[in-house]
Amino acid sequence: MSDIVAFLEARIAEDEAGATPGTVVISGGWPAPEVPNCVGADGRGCERGWEMTVPINAPTGWWKSEDIRQIIKAHEMTHVTEQQRRILAECTAKREIVAKVQGLDFTLLEALAYVYKDHPDYDKNWRR
Ligand SMILES: [Zn+2]
Repeated sequence: MSDIVAFLEARIAEDEAGATPGTVVISGGWPAPEVPNCVGADGRGCERGWEMTVPINAPTGWWKSEDIRQIIKAHEMTHVTEQQRRILAECTAKREIVAKVQGLDFTLLEALAYVYKDHPDYDKNWRR
């Protein structure tokens, strides 16, 4: 039997990534400094003109640290649409359901997995 929990976690992560505004891009690169800046939801610029200040002597990839990624994500979330917000909330709810019922109620996991029945990794034996 395939791992339905891993399948669900992967699909939820995909949904979450797809619903997260990816408005911040990294401009520059050696020898210029790498500057995270926001292109806005439509790619024509952020109405707030958001960009990060490059630290003095910043190493290549300085913006990849978890602290900086959190700052970038916080700004990107200011561009979230209502539909994206709903999808992200559904992802949180699905994760909680999977965590609470795994090992207890396989039929509920099957019901959640059925949403993704057209995915190539979906196991046709999972539901009825
Ligand atoms: Zn922005």
